[in-house]
Amino acid sequence: MIEPRYTGHCHCGALGFRYATYRAPAEWSVRACQCRFCRMHDALSTSDPDGRLAFVHDDATQLQRYRFALQTADFLLCRRCGVYIGATIDISDASYGIINTHALDTPPADIADVGAVTYDDEDVDGRISRRAQRWTPVVSA
Ligand SMILES: [Zn+2]
Repeated sequence: MIEPRYTGHCHCGALGFRYATYRAPAEWSVRACQCRFCRMHDALSTSDPDGRLAFVHDDATQLQRYRFALQTADFLLCRRCGVYIGATIDISDASYGIINTHALDTPPADIADVGAVTYDDEDVDGRISRRAQRWTPVVSA
């Protein structure tokens, strides 16, 4: 994977990720999605189409995938501690993902300001194409 890398975990440590991006934290796109799921989790999403993301679970038996609304992505939750760590979508032969910045082990001090976003007007095709362009390519660890 490229550098620098950031690691993240759920609260109990069962689920984790490694996120790599050349972008300085001050330039990250940090999005407060206004959908009900993200508001209920107080989730903040980030991704970098030029970065790399790997989900690395210490105890994959705790992984709960959750789909809702348009059913296009898997939102990854810990069965034990309940934390939402990120989401993935499979498009053609590739996988793309986002992380919840609240799950970073050491959130960068100079992380970018949060922007509120809504995607309510998207249809399935629009949602998939946006994620293919903006989400981070997922690689195996
Ligand atoms: Zn957990």
